[in-house]
Amino acid sequence: MDATHSAADRELIALVCAVAALQQAQRLLWAAGMTKTSIAIIGGGVAGLSAAHELAERGFEVTVYEARRAVGGKAKSQPVVGSGTGGRRDLPGEHGFRFFPAFYRHVVDTMARIPDGDVTVADHLRPAPEAALGLPDGQPLVRFLRRRPRRPSELAATFAAGFQGLGVTAADLVRFGERVLRYYTSCPERRLAQYEGISWWDYLGGDRYSPAFQRYLAAVPRVMVAMDPRHGSARTIGDISMQLLADQAGDGRQADRLLAGPTTETWIDPWRRHLEALGVRFKRGAARAIRVRRKTIAAFELEDGTLARADHYVCAVPIEAVRALIGPELAALDPALARLQAMPAPTFARMTAWMNGLQLYLRRDVPVVRGHMFYPESPWALTSVSQPQFWRERGALEARYGDGRVRGLISVDISDFGMAGTFVGKAARDCTPAEIAREVWQHLRAALRTADGPLLDDDDLIGWHLDDELEARAGGGLINRAPLLVHPPGSWAVRPEAATAIPNLVLAGDFVRTSTDIASMEGANEAARRAVNAILDRVDSGAARCGLWPMQAREPAIYAAARRIDAQVFANRWARGRHAFDLIPGLAASLGAVPSAPAAVVEGMRDAA
Ligand SMILES: Cc1cc2nc3c(=O)[nH]c(=O)nc-3n(C[C@H](O)[C@H](O)[C@H](O)COP(=O)(O)OP(=O)(O)OC[C@H]3O[C@@H](n4cnc5c(N)ncnc54)[C@H](O)[C@@H]3O)c2cc1C
Repeated sequence: MDATHSAADRELIALVCAVAALQQAQRLLWAAGMTKTSIAIIGGGVAGLSAAHELAERGFEVTVYEARRAVGGKAKSQPVVGSGTGGRRDLPGEHGFRFFPAFYRHVVDTMARIPDGDVTVADHLRPAPEAALGLPDGQPLVRFLRRRPRRPSELAATFAAGFQGLGVTAADLVRFGERVLRYYTSCPERRLAQYEGISWWDYLGGDRYSPAFQRYLAAVPRVMVAMDPRHGSARTIGDISMQLLADQAGDGRQADRLLAGPTTETWIDPWRRHLEALGVRFKRGAARAIRVRRKTIAAFELEDGTLARADHYVCAVPIEAVRALIGPELAALDPALARLQAMPAPTFARMTAWMNGLQLYLRRDVPVVRGHMFYPESPWALTSVSQPQFWRERGALEARYGDGRVRGLISVDISDFGMAGTFVGKAARDCTPAEIAREVWQHLRAALRTADGPLLDDDDLIGWHLDDELEARAGGGLINRAPLLVHPPGSWAVRPEAATAIPNLVLAGDFVRTSTDIASMEGANEAARRAVNAILDRVDSGAARCGLWPMQAREPAIYAAARRIDAQVFANRWARGRHAFDLIPGLAASLGAVPSAPAAVVEGMRDAA
């Protein structure tokens, strides 16, 4: 040591060394399993289970408190109680079917770490290489492959489907192509400052397309993510659309994937077993308050009055439940939480929408297409998938579920509950469950046909199951106990980060700011990883941080240089926020394209509030 150090310097150095030694000792003890940091997680959905998984693997003592009897949240299956006879299980129902596009990296990484017999849960993902459009006007299905055309004949068939069948014009494609190219070549700063604050429809200049193309522009985000493009942020829908388009240009091996059985059986049950083996404890309990003491969390207060105490707390409940749990004391400690709590109810209401599933049980299997069916003309924004073709065992439905008569299962997602249905003449939210089933069945009957005629017959239908989260309202209509987060323009500004300003509270859940930026199991899983990384930082853990793979890094590499140039153009005051395309004389006029939106409207939701 340098002899010139003063006594005070030497004391300081000794103190720093002692702290470092203590931290190292704590790490060693921790690694040896001799001391454990306790974690209480509220919410056993994909986010809560993902956080539990990452924490338990790193030696934390984890307890998950879940309000419902079963874990899995929106992803869990909903067996149709009492439908199984003769030793068979109850028929599998779902909140909505589950698909895993190619850009899902986080959740699939977790699935690959869940053993199930000799394989992992990720091995239960099956490719869905095809999709089709079903139109209710007597046209046969328009099939398409979930990959780039490999032969000229495939390319020709794609164009023929678009131009002849759907009424799309060449001008539509050029205009849309310019918007896609503009998006791919826009830097992240521009996307946040300009596109986050406007709707996808405004970004596309939706009114300038042919009526036929407008119908598809309006339908695709509704059927894919329950978002009305006129009310969904251009950045959120744009980022996801770029991924889906990139997947479409791939080789099709993973563009879309489905589970090889009912979600709980194939994924959630093995997950819970694995987490229990890692030491995670599960307790039934709904949090009704978050107790604060000396600017930290003291406990989650459960509905039965008991207190769940731990060193660190993970709040992994849906956004509406988080909002209800933010009391004035908590809001005073974190501006992001205060912002969420202070939103007026009508503004907050725009952040969720209804999307719920209906399953149709059939007398025979009707596979239709090896993937998803889209019904762009359906007022209720329907999508469906015929499930048994993806399941592990052929004939599993008949042999293992229900009363032995059910051989076919079409699972349908309804993404618009506000438009009047074609057959029942009213909005889904005003219908009885039986009326919902009738509208959906009639629409599918009309739209699912080949050149030889309809694929479904009324005699095929044995029964149906509507999402248990929809409850009949006294006096008519429905209540939805599990609405889905959506992303109106400017909503990024009111969504919190995983790490709060409170030293022992983190947030997980699909509403947390993530690169995935769409309410999904992928977003929920990424949020959980961010929450766990924040805890690891706070306890100064030597454990490896959870892997994070920003979705945007998957965008085609050929545009990376253009995005870097755009970052410079965007930062340049001379360009006044314009994109390079706007600087090409006459381009916007010749395409009839809309110029870039004015800068910086990310505060939209707050302004509206
Ligand atoms: C119809 C439909 C279809 C979908 N399809 C897909 C799909 O194909 N692919 C995809 O990636 N995503 C899909 N999603 C979205 C996806 O399901 C969700 O974004 C994701 O599951 C959210 O997970 P989460 O853990 O954040 O929240 P949730 O799943 O909502 O879980 C939260 C949990 O917290 C519990 N809870 C609530 N309040 C409390 C409380 N006070 N105390 C204790 N526990 C509480 C709830 O019971 C629940 O179990 C779909 C959504 C819907 C509605």
